[in-house]
Amino acid sequence: MPKTKGTSQKDKRDSGLRTVYLALGSNIPPRKYYMLESIKALHKWNPDRFRVSKCYVTRPYMGLDQAAYFNCCVSFQTGVSGIELLHTIKQIEDNLGRKREAVKWGVRSIDIDILFMGSDIIDIPDLTVPHYDVSNRDFFLMPMLDLDKTFVNPRTKMLLSEEIEKIPQNSRTYPKAIRTTKLCELNN
Ligand code: ATP
Ligand code: CA
Ligand code: CA
Repeated sequence: MPKTKGTSQKDKRDSGLRTVYLALGSNIPPRKYYMLESIKALHKWNPDRFRVSKCYVTRPYMGLDQAAYFNCCVSFQTGVSGIELLHTIKQIEDNLGRKREAVKWGVRSIDIDILFMGSDIIDIPDLTVPHYDVSNRDFFLMPMLDLDKTFVNPRTKMLLSEEIEKIPQNSRTYPKAIRTTKLCELNN
């Protein structure tokens, strides 16, 4: 396969330590419970430099007729491959009763997406990193900015703080930070 300049088509097995960023979302009660249990499971699996953003309440993306979401991001340092990470997050989702609906963007107890794995670019059938739609979702970018205000999207080479400004009004979900101490207890 011809290589696109600056991109790696493959997942890296042994890519060394880098910071990964995950997005969590829930819109089935009890939302805080699902978020917290996922965060605890991720922290138990990989506690190294583990951080949690603020938690936001957001409107459903693209005006879907659904209940409001809770969204946040976590980051940690790890050397695992993208596929290993994907496998782990799917297991955590399954353990928390995530139903795999036929309908895209159906309601969910918990959804965990991989947003970034350092500056890695992965384009394989089961995994796209950075997340294919990260630049269009304020409910990803807002908590990402809590974790790193100077983060640059390795695909677009743009600061996330610039990307969030460019989101058109009709795709905004208007994240509003909620007061919760519990979600951030694992910050270090
Ligand atoms: P969206 O991806 O638009 O946010 P979704 O999260 O509802 O939608 P899912 O049903 O949770 O979609 O996932 C569908 C598939 O996406 C997964 O089985 C997984 O293999 C694949 N996938 C590709 N890239 C990623 C990524 N960066 N993070 C998580 N899953 C990914
Ligand atoms: Ca998702
Ligand atoms: Ca997902």
